[in-house]
Amino acid sequence: MSVEKKETLIQVQNLTKTFGGSVHALNGVSTDIKKGEVVCVIGPSGSGKSTFLRCLNRLEDPTDGRIIFAGEDLMDPKTDIDMHRQKMGMVFQHFNLFPHMSILKNMTIAPMKLQKRGKDEAEGQAMKLLERVGLADRANAYPSQLSGGQKQRIAIVRALCMNPEVMLFDEPTSALDPEMVGEVLSVMKKLANDGMTMLVVTHEMAFAHDISSKVVFMNKGVICEEGSPYELFGNPKKQETKDFLARFIER
Ligand code: ADP
Ligand code: MG
Repeated sequence: MSVEKKETLIQVQNLTKTFGGSVHALNGVSTDIKKGEVVCVIGPSGSGKSTFLRCLNRLEDPTDGRIIFAGEDLMDPKTDIDMHRQKMGMVFQHFNLFPHMSILKNMTIAPMKLQKRGKDEAEGQAMKLLERVGLADRANAYPSQLSGGQKQRIAIVRALCMNPEVMLFDEPTSALDPEMVGEVLSVMKKLANDGMTMLVVTHEMAFAHDISSKVVFMNKGVICEEGSPYELFGNPKKQETKDFLARFIER
């Protein structure tokens, strides 16, 4: 996907995160994410990928550095972080749906409570999104009645109900049975084609190759290398990137 001179949506400068004084999860991460860009983040376990995503929407408090989101400094204590968090949809490995609520309720509770939107309007949008992912007939079902793949598709459209400006995905298909991975990736691909700005931590290399405008390889808390999927997969420059990709292909 081509990204021509698009507006920067998220600017990350020298982000660091230390846990308990000695675990350096992020050691100075800097990157730009432009509007409409799909950035896939790859890297070994423990390299800081989840911490990076969680710092972006301040689920973790960064130790140092700057995050500028839509022109606003998210580290500034005066910034309304709850308001900004609503603009960043997040989908995790585990679905985090409320088990005691119907699918429709799961999707409308945050828009109604946090954005003070009316029930009819919120439900109307939720139903449209459910139709788009082929799950309109499950609106009144409960999460336990759905498959893992269906639950993850719901988690995605639930996040979309808040009309976010960016979607953050942390290994959205890692907990799924293999036969369900495709249906979730295809929803994400559709979203990318619709122009959503996305940051996706994934081990699905073919998918990353296919949808990314940029691939970021993280290692030991830093961005070791970043580039177009063509460059990063086809002609990696750093030895660490080569080693990581080689390990992947061996499996
Ligand atoms: P990845 O998602 O790439 O597997 P993480 O961001 O989860 O990596 O973790 C990066 C490093 O930070 C790891 O060494 C991990 O053990 C550590 N870490 C992550 N979260 C915490 C936490 N809440 N407390 C202490 N250490 C943590
Ligand atoms: Mg992780």
